[in-house]
Amino acid sequence: MIASDLHSGVEQLGEMIAEASIVVPFTGAGISTGAGIPDFRSPGGLWTVNRPIPFDEFVASSDARNETWRRRFAMEPTFAAARPGRGHRALASLYKAGKIPAVVTQNIDNLHQMSGFSADDVVELHGNTTYARCIGCGQAYALSWVKQRFDMMGSAPNCAACEGPIKTATISFGQAMPDEAMRRATELAQQCDLFLAIGSSLVVWPAAGFPLMAKESGARLVIINNEPTDQDDVADLVIHHDIGEALGPFVGN
Ligand SMILES: [Zn+2]
Repeated sequence: MIASDLHSGVEQLGEMIAEASIVVPFTGAGISTGAGIPDFRSPGGLWTVNRPIPFDEFVASSDARNETWRRRFAMEPTFAAARPGRGHRALASLYKAGKIPAVVTQNIDNLHQMSGFSADDVVELHGNTTYARCIGCGQAYALSWVKQRFDMMGSAPNCAACEGPIKTATISFGQAMPDEAMRRATELAQQCDLFLAIGSSLVVWPAAGFPLMAKESGARLVIINNEPTDQDDVADLVIHHDIGEALGPFVGN
């Protein structure tokens, strides 16, 4: 059911949260656009201008690795300046209150951690772009370490331990979904009694399957998104408004 206006949507959402014992939020780009992170998939977004470099190309070609890193460094002022918005802060409040055990996210921006979630309680389906990892051995690297060596050598460095290629800790196109994150997201979707799909157009699979999985497991489903989604029909409540405005009243609760 689509909320007739923002006020009644917020009121119904408040009742549903009060009645629920386990609330699981699932977040997409829309929660972060207000916090300064552009939506790469949107028309005119970065990925419509620069074709994303698929995983196998990154592994096979040092040119592809250098280009990937140049693009990432160019984005650094944006990622470094982003701060959690009202949506992030509202979820962090409900997390601290014990309503939310963990957040499942498609975002790679680290803003849930920055808002107060323990890193262990952020289930990242697409990884995290604020640090890097060796593809070979998994060793973590700070971006500043990669940048320093890139500037020194003019090309992307390899792992100091195993010589493997180093990539941001994100899931690239053509790269397998992370097993542990998928397992935890499945478990959370099946255990919760209220599932909140926030700022996701629910078109990227397999991530878009989690709201339906929660619904089929008996949870209520709320969709909060500026635009209609394919799953509005099955949701118990749909709020087509700005996420900061819809979740703002829950900051500090
Ligand atoms: Zn390594």
